[in-house]
Amino acid sequence: MATLRDTARQTLEQLGVAASMLDGGGLAVRSPVNGETIAHVAETPASGASAAVAVAHQAASAWRNVPAPHRGELVRLLGDELRAAKDALGRLVSIEAGKSPSEGLGEVQEMIDICDFAVGLSRQLYGKTIATERAEHRMMETWHPLGVVGIISAFNFPVAVWAWNAALALVCGNAIVWKPSEKTPLTAMASHAVLERALERFASAPKGLSQLLIGGREIGEAMVDDPRVAAVSATGSTAMGRVVGQRLAARFARSILELGGNNAAIVTPSADLDLALRGVAFAAMGTAGQRCTTLRRLFVHRSIHDSFVTRLKAAYDSVTVGNPLDGHLVGPLIDSDSYHRMRSALDSAATCGGRVHGGTRVVVEGCEGGYYVRPALVEMTSQIGPVREETFAPILYVMAYDNFADAIALQNDVPQGLSSSVFTNDMREAELFVSASGSDCGIANVNIGTSGAEIGGAFGGEKETGGGRESGSDAWQGYMRRATNTINYGRNLPLAQGVTFDV
Ligand code: NAD
Repeated sequence: MATLRDTARQTLEQLGVAASMLDGGGLAVRSPVNGETIAHVAETPASGASAAVAVAHQAASAWRNVPAPHRGELVRLLGDELRAAKDALGRLVSIEAGKSPSEGLGEVQEMIDICDFAVGLSRQLYGKTIATERAEHRMMETWHPLGVVGIISAFNFPVAVWAWNAALALVCGNAIVWKPSEKTPLTAMASHAVLERALERFASAPKGLSQLLIGGREIGEAMVDDPRVAAVSATGSTAMGRVVGQRLAARFARSILELGGNNAAIVTPSADLDLALRGVAFAAMGTAGQRCTTLRRLFVHRSIHDSFVTRLKAAYDSVTVGNPLDGHLVGPLIDSDSYHRMRSALDSAATCGGRVHGGTRVVVEGCEGGYYVRPALVEMTSQIGPVREETFAPILYVMAYDNFADAIALQNDVPQGLSSSVFTNDMREAELFVSASGSDCGIANVNIGTSGAEIGGAFGGEKETGGGRESGSDAWQGYMRRATNTINYGRNLPLAQGVTFDV
């Protein structure tokens, strides 16, 4: 029977990654599904960041002159190649990140969706024409490429986050340098090979338009510090963003920071409780709690708290934990560190008076090297200790509330500000929640859980989540610089604000 390692390596070959790249390197890649080591890939040497940025910098100066709709054609070809590679790349995501087949494929679908979006965008990089106070003048704004855009991505969406950034950065006329998570280099190598195929089909693409750096923090920092990198879009923990954001700010470079969340939902007495139960269950337990938008805090109105929590516990008990490739709903944590962080958060919650349901390790037959856990539901009386932090694992803290305004205040009273939702059929509550006095998050949903965003909206959050926006809406503006142009087509030189300077 083929091992996971065999399947991964065959899939990589199918995707265009040479077998010779999978052995002999210093970075061991293991599957969280069973702990098996799949490959040893070579890390980019420290000097490699500068060399890659130099090539990308050169490519950017040619790419910026290719008309945007033609740049869109490259991204259309990338979408084509991704469609052809969908099954294989989805399978590899499942093996390397430990996701179910449906989630692995969903991630690749997200890449395809953002390519489609970016192709349309390539004809819509609109600037405004602005009314000017001076006669025979015209004022307008134009959007230009930034140059080289760096992309740092996390293990939990190993390829979709790259595509969000890459598709937009490319149609906006930039070259890209990608530093994926050191935990998921194989899906990055495969995605890069897919883009290389699109580049081969596109005659006017300059050489070296896209670069890949394999390794951890050190190579990431070398890219972040390179003055030729105009902007970095960094997705990962708040701890990472604090370092990267400050380094970029020190040289006045642009940053798009997509950091940790501590997402909450409110269930009100008027809610459709069947729908709320399903929404909460997927948001809290899906992807084994390893989405930035995973539901981590739940506020339930006291009048329905006990009955809702009883139903929720039954849902927690009913989900199957096991090999995600065999169709189990809750797959593994990424590694042992993640498991130990979960245990430590649960111990700390218990010390704070929390009543813990679940959270125990599950040994899965045939996958003994993987870290599987039963999702944990913890009843808390207040929002203290680990409840205020993001633990990247399936822990849901449940608290009762008495009035809606308090629930909103509690939901906002954490350092993070990514995603939030309310389950209600009361129009006033729904509208208040999405108003200026409601949720302070970048994502505020009604009758939908906190996770599972579509690419059409701008994605990101406030406060310690970093403030960046990626993906849809006008997020493309983060990958371009705006110039204001004032053109005088007359023979006089009127000055703004009526200032005179006659010589
Ligand atoms: P992480 O912070 O450990 O690593 C993320 C990436 O940053 C990796 O590529 C890592 O090598 C790199 N990195 C770390 N320190 C760096 C430094 N000083 N300079 C340059 N690069 C550095 O995060 P993780 O464990 O891979 O992912 C989980 C975290 O990511 C969670 O906090 C989750 O909420 C967050 N996340 C956020 C979003 C979002 O859109 N807001 C999306 C996915 C994940």
